[in-house]
Amino acid sequence: QTRPGLSLLVLLCYRQLLPCLWIKDEHSLDDFYNETKAKIFLQFYDQTAKVVLNQFMETTRNYVTNITRKNQEEMLHKDMERSQFMIYFGIRACLFKVAQFQAQDVNRTLRKLQNIDKAALPKDELREYNELLADMEMTYSMAQVCLNETACLSLEPELEEVMATSRNKEELLWAWQGWRDAVGCQIRTTFEHYVELSNKATQLNGYKDMGALWRSKYELDTLKQDLEWFFQELRPLYLNLHTYMHWALHRHYGPELIDLRGPIPAHLRGNMWAQSSVNILDLVLPFSKKIPEDVTKIMKGQHWKSEKMFEDSEKFFTSLGLLPAPPSFWKKSMLMRPTDGQEVECHTSAWNSYLDDDFGIKKCMEVTIEDLLSIFHEMGHIQYFLQYKNLSIIFCEGANPAFEEAVGSVITLSASSHKHLLNIGLLSLKHQDSEDEVNFLMRIALEKIKIFDGTIRKDIYNQEWWNLRLKYQGLCPPVPHSEEDFDPGAKFHISAGVYFLSLVLQFQFHETLCKASGHMGPLHQCDIYNSKIAGKLLGDALKLGSSKPWPEVLKMLTGESEVCIKALMTYFIPLLNWLVTDNMQQGDILGWPDFSCSFEEKDTDKVTFLNLKLDPNQAKFGYWVLLALGFVMSLVVLGLVCRLHSLEKQSLTQDTEIFSPLPNAYFLGIAMEPRQTAKRQWMLLGLCLVLMLRTPPWVRAEWWSWD
Ligand SMILES: [Zn+2]
Repeated sequence: QTRPGLSLLVLLCYRQLLPCLWIKDEHSLDDFYNETKAKIFLQFYDQTAKVVLNQFMETTRNYVTNITRKNQEEMLHKDMERSQFMIYFGIRACLFKVAQFQAQDVNRTLRKLQNIDKAALPKDELREYNELLADMEMTYSMAQVCLNETACLSLEPELEEVMATSRNKEELLWAWQGWRDAVGCQIRTTFEHYVELSNKATQLNGYKDMGALWRSKYELDTLKQDLEWFFQELRPLYLNLHTYMHWALHRHYGPELIDLRGPIPAHLRGNMWAQSSVNILDLVLPFSKKIPEDVTKIMKGQHWKSEKMFEDSEKFFTSLGLLPAPPSFWKKSMLMRPTDGQEVECHTSAWNSYLDDDFGIKKCMEVTIEDLLSIFHEMGHIQYFLQYKNLSIIFCEGANPAFEEAVGSVITLSASSHKHLLNIGLLSLKHQDSEDEVNFLMRIALEKIKIFDGTIRKDIYNQEWWNLRLKYQGLCPPVPHSEEDFDPGAKFHISAGVYFLSLVLQFQFHETLCKASGHMGPLHQCDIYNSKIAGKLLGDALKLGSSKPWPEVLKMLTGESEVCIKALMTYFIPLLNWLVTDNMQQGDILGWPDFSCSFEEKDTDKVTFLNLKLDPNQAKFGYWVLLALGFVMSLVVLGLVCRLHSLEKQSLTQDTEIFSPLPNAYFLGIAMEPRQTAKRQWMLLGLCLVLMLRTPPWVRAEWWSWD
């Protein structure tokens, strides 16, 4: 139940309690915004934020688990209240003179408060922003693809199921295209506007673009270069994996669908967004005679239910000595898609309501090993919430966004190990030889390695999206796409940076925790289940939330203060070795030399100027030069007109004064009779005018569109 207006009431009380926070006169300002006052200010923030955020989260939870107009209205209302709250504290946080403060955490907290995010938008635009977001969510959740008038499929679970299990290229294309038609094109304009407003909010917060804002959350200047470096390190594994899959899919679908020198069509990768390819393991299994046991089938055979899946993941966390989920968790979570026709948002997520142990998970679960592992991941988020819940509310978040994701994922690395699945009775074959191991690692690689970049800008979403896909993943849209079909709209989370960093981090964590648990042998065989030492190490890091800069938390956990890709490479080394040998034997081409989809690499930063591709700044300079030339031309013409006028007058006087000595006139330095000079001047003037007025098409077109 929500308490309408309570947050505003708290704000009002707060105003009464701290009347001194209101600016009285300018001279006392500097003394006033001192460190002691800052601490009191933050205490008040903490108490009020709990109430405001809790109300907002509560209405959000209501909305996503029961999509109705009324619930949407309530959520939007609470969102506006939250924004006003953020503005109130954000503005005041700016007034403190943090440079003189001693306590580092006070500085960091005030800096965090200053970023008020979308609340920086003017009120009507903020309202619009929230509405756009809610509308997209509604479109996305309710979209269906219809087979005929009576049978329609929604994304989860039906269409996902088609993408995962169908091996029929027409059917796959139908589902892939159908979903994009149902969502992408509908969301496109909404999304464009949404991005526009997001950019505006970002700039109002003082950041250049969303990328800069995203990077600021990492408090690390070298992040961009670091990510690029990781990608280079990962490249051999990635290219070899891609090449091998290419060849395997070519074998199955034939040359008319798979061009060995081009990218892999996106609809053939077993997933609506071609990110995880684990569903097509059967087509790309390295040792096809050694088919691994089907864990999903075993789960179904053992009559697993959603409750058991959650209990098992909770058991894993408690075996490490970590905290159990509170009783309210089991009441409030949505584990299955409701069967009474209630509309819900199925996208899996965990939420924190910031009050009274109120955490939960929303998921439309199916009994599969993939869903079991995704519950482990979500329970990782819940564990994080539980560990940092006693901190000041502003630190109740992951050390950085990628940390949050890596925590759940590191547990899935143990939970999906052969050893663990054997222990919980989901596998029966005890021994794994080297061929089984390569098969096993292929499965993990298909599941984990899915790199894509999320820096997508207006006008070029679609183009850029596929260009980036080509660059990083070598995926190609199966049918020619135009800007009209809008792909990113079909996927809500375009946050590749978080994803990629968390990929690297989870293996780094895994290596550390395995070492702590006393694991010997290859990294991919490690299962930290039952290790209290590993659990304590992890728990201690989680307890810090974002109260310390993340390199410090990383150092505490792993002993290293930098993100390192070594563990990831160690984990996959047996697979990489096998892939390299196999690809060499096949004589396969690495990568995708022919970018044969109809999308050429487009350097979107450049603009065309006089048929040259230039930086916008260079082009701007060029236009100024043109403008200056034009101005000089006009002066020349004006000069010519004056001179012509005087020449005409001269020749007129000459006609009347026959006996005067012949005056010389000059044309381009040559002395001649004034009348002749005048004739030539007329011609030159005409030429200049023609040159000036005949605006070349490339200037005309771009002069006016340039801003
Ligand atoms: Zn997550």
